[in-house]
Amino acid sequence: ERKTLRSSTNANNNNTSTPKAVVDLKTGVMDDEIDLNDPNSTIIIQPGSETMKIGFALDETPLLIPNLVAIPKKDDSKGPSTESKLNTEQSEEFEDLKNELHSTFKERMRYYKRRIQPNSHEQVKSFNRNAQPETILDNNDPARIRWITQNDKVYYGNDALLCPESFFSHRKPFGTCRNGALFNLMGSSYSSVQELLGDVIKLIEFGLNKLLEAKNKDKYKAILVIPDLFEKSHVEEMIRLLLTELPFNAVAIIQESLATCYGAGISTSTCVVNVGASETSVSCIDEGVVLENSLINLNYGGDDITRLFSVLLKMNNFPYQDWNVESIAGWNIAETLKKQIVTLQDADVTVQLSNFMKRVFNEPTEKYEFKTFDEVMLAPLALFAPRIFSYLRNEESKNSTLQYQLPESKDLFTHELNDWRSMTQEACKNNGSYCDISDELQLLTALLEVDSKLEAFQSEATTTLDNKRNMLPLDKAIIQSITDACLSLDPSKMDSFYSNILVVGGSSNIPAFDFMLTDRINIWRPRLLSLSSFPQFYKNLSKEIKDLEMESQSTAKLQAQTGSVVPTTGSSTPLATNAGNDGETMADLNEVSKKLSSNINDLIKTKLQDYISNVESQNSNEHYFPVGVVPPPRDMSAAILSWKGASVLAQIKLVEELFITNLDWDMHGSRILQHKCIFTY
Ligand code: ADP
Repeated sequence: ERKTLRSSTNANNNNTSTPKAVVDLKTGVMDDEIDLNDPNSTIIIQPGSETMKIGFALDETPLLIPNLVAIPKKDDSKGPSTESKLNTEQSEEFEDLKNELHSTFKERMRYYKRRIQPNSHEQVKSFNRNAQPETILDNNDPARIRWITQNDKVYYGNDALLCPESFFSHRKPFGTCRNGALFNLMGSSYSSVQELLGDVIKLIEFGLNKLLEAKNKDKYKAILVIPDLFEKSHVEEMIRLLLTELPFNAVAIIQESLATCYGAGISTSTCVVNVGASETSVSCIDEGVVLENSLINLNYGGDDITRLFSVLLKMNNFPYQDWNVESIAGWNIAETLKKQIVTLQDADVTVQLSNFMKRVFNEPTEKYEFKTFDEVMLAPLALFAPRIFSYLRNEESKNSTLQYQLPESKDLFTHELNDWRSMTQEACKNNGSYCDISDELQLLTALLEVDSKLEAFQSEATTTLDNKRNMLPLDKAIIQSITDACLSLDPSKMDSFYSNILVVGGSSNIPAFDFMLTDRINIWRPRLLSLSSFPQFYKNLSKEIKDLEMESQSTAKLQAQTGSVVPTTGSSTPLATNAGNDGETMADLNEVSKKLSSNINDLIKTKLQDYISNVESQNSNEHYFPVGVVPPPRDMSAAILSWKGASVLAQIKLVEELFITNLDWDMHGSRILQHKCIFTY
């Protein structure tokens, strides 16, 4: 391992913009100088489940390097093949969920007064049944794929996409079912972490080679964009790789959604919704801080839309019969078609004719024509009813060897897990969402408990991870996240969060996504959470409840001192310390504690009744919080906004305090992160 020493001996004192000379201990030669404030030598790296985005901070756009590695097959074995679920034969539950989607679609069309021709489905099916492909000769096909058939070495990124399955097996080093994991610890494609990290290094090198084509290889600084709910052990391993195995001499990290806000230039309270390929995340940002307890990771994304779309196409007699969607070429076709014709714009849903080129290894290029109808909208609509996605996936579980070799980060002293945890995330996995509570009293009671639940959540020790999937619909997840963020911070911020819902990630490019999301939030947001006077009502009521509790606590203290019950209108909690031995007093205290909760319940009930009748009264000028779904600024692509945000960070002075240099890493190891992060590490 290369040891370096900088002229500045104090590692913590590198917050000046003067370049630091680096001396290589082995050679004694002065290495390059690091100017922490010079964005020219900063490279932004954002690993994603579909592509890794990599580019110089001052570049307009990053290179998109597919998260894919192709390994030559040793023999003709096909490898472990799982049966594809992407075919027309589906279970009854799937059909039911599909019908549900269909009725949501019809309702929406009716609401917007769009006519649906009654025989649309028949038209599509009969056209597709009779459609015949047209064969295109290779020399008439300028975009034909030049497949790589020499399987004597490993291929990375874009090259790996050209390697057919008959000669290569494929694997993805960056996480595809992330839940905060940077690396792919799922399934059996890797037998050891060493092998996995080897691929990560090679994939980044592949990206760097493309990036540095014209430039001479030098030392660079990296800004790494990490998930909001990140796994510390992965982040630390990645920093180590960048500093010791790759040509970087300083690394800074930033969370994805904060970077998104930088990229969009938004500084007010914002709810960032990132719809990626395999995951969707929702996070609330306030005053430059990602609110830990508002974070939600949903285990579905654009890939699921692709899968569902392909199955819906097949169900309508899609003319390409042998379509293997899970092969590299088949997936390409599905993705291309999805990007071309999937839409959430109701005006565009009619019977329409489309075409595509089938380019599959060892088969002639063919041009197909086909018709579609409502499947173009049903597939993305499933983001709001995602249970259907589960039927089309081959579920993989965590690879225990990899998990053992790269365990979760634990506190040195308590041995408890010490990664970021979000109360909202755990709550939606286990108890459903606020939108599912139809009774207003029940809802209000749940809302009033947010603070105490948060306290209990933060003090509870966690030693094992909850690997349950989160399949809450996107609209409900956004409402959940904003509600928990505001109630534990300041209820009056609700207005700002609802009017700044920033949608990013490749899948948010679906036409009219913002329009649909606004409608869905308006449909699902419970009335209480929509009223602009609710924050004030909530604050007042919380205060009154606190007063009742205080009153009863002081009564309890008095009781504990005198050993007898003092008559009171409020009551007491059974927390008095020295009353424990006296059975009679204890019983009395329990009695008063019961009285307190019944008093609180009565108070909530009457206050809610008054509030609602006031809202419903004719002369009330009550209004609802507007929902504002903000698309990325006009000239920016939704998929690269967070990458762009990190490049903004690279250009502001603050960044010099965030860079971790080789020397920092050698001297302090991962502890340095506590001092060099823009958030609480
Ligand atoms: P990740 O960060 O997980 O790699 P991205 O934010 O880059 O994901 O988004 C990739 C996803 O966006 C893919 O599922 C891709 O199919 C989808 N996507 C990109 N462009 C479009 C589009 N125009 N319409 C629909 N989906 C799209």
